[in-house]
Amino acid sequence: MEKSQAPITRRRGLLRGTHLLLGAVVTAIAGAPRTVKAAKADKKDFFYQDKPNAGRHCSSCNLYSVSPSGKSVCAIIDGEISAEGWCMAYSPRT
Ligand code: SF4
Repeated sequence: MEKSQAPITRRRGLLRGTHLLLGAVVTAIAGAPRTVKAAKADKKDFFYQDKPNAGRHCSSCNLYSVSPSGKSVCAIIDGEISAEGWCMAYSPRT
């Protein structure tokens, strides 16, 4: 009798069941949506100010965006910012 045709013993059946269960758990975890958000920095940590710095301002920064509610927001600074603001992480749009 070939190995693949050997009768399934209770132990082998349990092992196969365990492998199938582990595979299902790994698949479920890998496919789960990621909801972890990175915390944003405090304004003072980046010396944020509500006025431009030498002509550089948030609305010309790569990290600037406007939220669906119309607020000016930054990808790394927490809270509402000013389009005319600036911080040391300023990164000009290219
Ligand atoms: S990184 Fe600084 S300059 Fe750029 S949008 Fe955010 S707060 Fe404004």
